[in-house]
Order: sequence, then C-alpha cells, then structure tokens
Amino acid sequence: MISETTISTQQKKMIDWAKLRADFPILDQQVHGHPLVYLDNAASSQKPRAVIDCLSNYYEKDNANVHRGIHELSNRATAAFEASRQRVATFINAKTQDEIIFTRGTTEGINLIAASWGSKNIKAGDKILLTEMEHHSNIVPWQLLAEKTGAKLVYIPVTGDEGLLDLSKLDQLLTPEVKLFAFTHISNTLGTLNPVAELCERARKLGVTTLVDAAQSAGHLPLDVQSLGCDFLVFSGHKICGPTGIGVLWGRQEILDNMPPYHGGGEMIVTVDFFKSTFKKAPHRFEAGTPDISGVIALHAALDYLDAVGRENIFKHDQELATYCYDQLAQLKNVRLFGPKTGRAGLVSFLLEDVHAHDVVTVADQRGVALRGGHHCNQPLMKKLGIASTARASFYFYNTRAEVDRFIEVTREIQKFFGA
Ligand SMILES: *Cc1c(COP(=O)(O)O)cnc(C)c1O
Repeated sequence: MISETTISTQQKKMIDWAKLRADFPILDQQVHGHPLVYLDNAASSQKPRAVIDCLSNYYEKDNANVHRGIHELSNRATAAFEASRQRVATFINAKTQDEIIFTRGTTEGINLIAASWGSKNIKAGDKILLTEMEHHSNIVPWQLLAEKTGAKLVYIPVTGDEGLLDLSKLDQLLTPEVKLFAFTHISNTLGTLNPVAELCERARKLGVTTLVDAAQSAGHLPLDVQSLGCDFLVFSGHKICGPTGIGVLWGRQEILDNMPPYHGGGEMIVTVDFFKSTFKKAPHRFEAGTPDISGVIALHAALDYLDAVGRENIFKHDQELATYCYDQLAQLKNVRLFGPKTGRAGLVSFLLEDVHAHDVVTVADQRGVALRGGHHCNQPLMKKLGIASTARASFYFYNTRAEVDRFIEVTREIQKFFGA
C-alpha cells in the first residue's frame, strides 16, 4: 500500500504551478492596463477550465430535473448528482454519502442547523458558545435562535492583533450549559488556524455538539470529519474552485436522522396528505425543491481538481506565500499586521497608518491588484480590535511569489502616494 504521505511527496516534486495557473482562463487578463493580480481568494476563488466545461457540458448534454424522471436525461442528471454526493463524502471522509446535504453555501448550512437542530435542541437558559473571530454567518443565525428560544450567546475571546483564541478561558466558558459550540476552522480576517480536533474533543467530553465553519479550510487543506471529531461541518463551493450557489453541510447521521425538516416542499416527502405529511430521511429530507443541479455536478469537478493538485500541497503553497507576504509587509514602516506571526493560513490582513483600507484597495485596483478592504463580515472582531476595517490579501495555489512582490511594490507606491 502506498501511504498518503508518499503520494503527496511525489506530487510535490512534480507539481508545475505555472501549468496549473494556465487552467484558470480568467487570470490571463489586464485590469486598468496592468496584468491582473487576483488576491481576493478568501472572498471567492477563480474556477479552472474543468469546472467551467463541466457546467456547459451539463447544459449542453444532460440537463433535466433530478430524482423524479424516468427518462434518459433525468437518469443521467440524477446519477451525476448523486455521484457528486459520494465524491463529497470521500473528500471529507464522511462515513456515508447520506451525511452530505447540498445547500447554497456555508451561510445556508449554518441557518439550516440553527433552524432545524437548534429549534429542537436549544431551550431557554442554554448557552451557545462562539468565538470572537466568527464570520457574521456564524453569529447572526445564533442571535436569531437565541431571541426565539431565550438561549444565551457566549464568546471565546481573541487575544488581540495576534488573533489567537484565548484558550485559557475555555474551561470557564465550555460548561455543561453549553449545548452547541460553533467556531471557524480558519479565520477569514486573521488567517488563524484553530485547533479543531482539540476543541471538539474538549466539547465531546461534556456532551456539547460542535459545528465547524470550514469555509476557509475546505479547499485549502485535507479535511477528515471523523478525525476532527466534530458533529457538523459546513463549507461553500465558490471558495474552493466550484460554482457559486452550491455548498455542503455534513452532519453525523444519527444527529441528522433526529432533526426536523428545514424547508418543506417537493422531493423531501414520502407521502403528503391535505393535513399531514411524512418525510424522507437525510439527506433528502433537507433538500426540498429543485436543487442547484449544475452546481452540484460541477462541484464534483472542482473536488477532483483540488485532489489532483493535493490539498497538502495547496496548504503549503498558500502558507509560504502568506508568510512571505507577511514578512515583506513587516519590513515596511507604519504597517499594522493582524493574525499570528507563525503558522498562519494563506491570507494577510493589514492597515497602513493614516491610509483608509478602502483607499488601499481602490489604488491597488488601479494597478491591477485585487484586494479586499472592509470589515470582512467580522464587525464585532473589528470593534474588539478598535478598528473599522482592514485591507486583506488572500492567496490560492495559482498565485505566485512574483505576484506577492508586485503587491508589495504597489503597497510601497500607495504609502508614497498618501505620504504615509
Ligand atoms: C465566506 C465565509 C462564510 C460565508 O460563506 P458564504 O459562501 O457567503 O455562505 C462563512 N464563514 C467564513 C469563515 C467565510 O470565510
């Protein structure tokens, strides 16, 4: 048997990153008269030709509604749709494909859990434990649920600009009143990589259910839901080379089987009577109506693509670029950097003294460099750090060291331009 590490070491030697980059047609263009340097991957990744072709192939050859047809096209669409579910299961090492629910994205996955699992399992006086680095989509659904149920939200603090979870507070915060502990794997603002397996283990000892927001990690490092030991995990297709409008919710089968439906409608029922209906088991119970069929099928192509590159290789590549970028920025004057100094994931948040993040991004765009500036859907974190926004450069495997150099050169120009 060839071990996984042997394969990835062999792959690493053979990876031709420039060739991979050429699979992304969108990257080969000029923006405002400069070559595009796309560093906004934490907001959405670009798509390889294989995914774009998969979408058009589906519409050109197989398009039909799934699950209910008895004709050839419907059978083809259904087979491809369900093959993707199986592929997602292997991608995250789920026990069975019945644990895979297709959603519109991370946001919908969390809302589904809050509405379905939450309404059944969260009562007045219960606590929901989150962290101060959560994306709005892992805060607001819990606020809505807390308002409805009388539950209370509690937060693990972030240490400050270095952006680590203050785990010295965990014993105090992770108590038996906590019914759910929901946290991000990688912070989309700080680049922090949280110790998921350790956090889940501590929660499990107290019988606390765990939810991992894998929006920033799913396409960037190997994920194994069984060894992470979580109960739910959610991610979006569009951040990992897949189409927009498609996402995944994974849940342990025994938990999913005890959850009430989320949306009601076609496809999720066994029988419908005028006054009462019976429902299918997971995953179909949670997939009412016609799903994003092309999105599901193209997600399969995206996962195949990522695994051909190797997620360990992707992580190393992204981390090297981000660390290089961080070190280069740290050498400039009047730069405030956010997130851990070492061990960070593939993104860097920063502020230039006396220059608004919005202005950094606007001027960078004029030079062809796509960054993101703002609160990154982390308003409470911004408030905690005493800032309104940051500028962020986020990387993927098609980015190059030369692009980081270009970004640093542009940052220098911005500082000069604003006299900062
Ligand atoms: C992008 C993101 C989300 C939301 O994902 P959508 O695709 O917009 O639903 C949630 N959490 C994190 C950490 C993210 O980066």
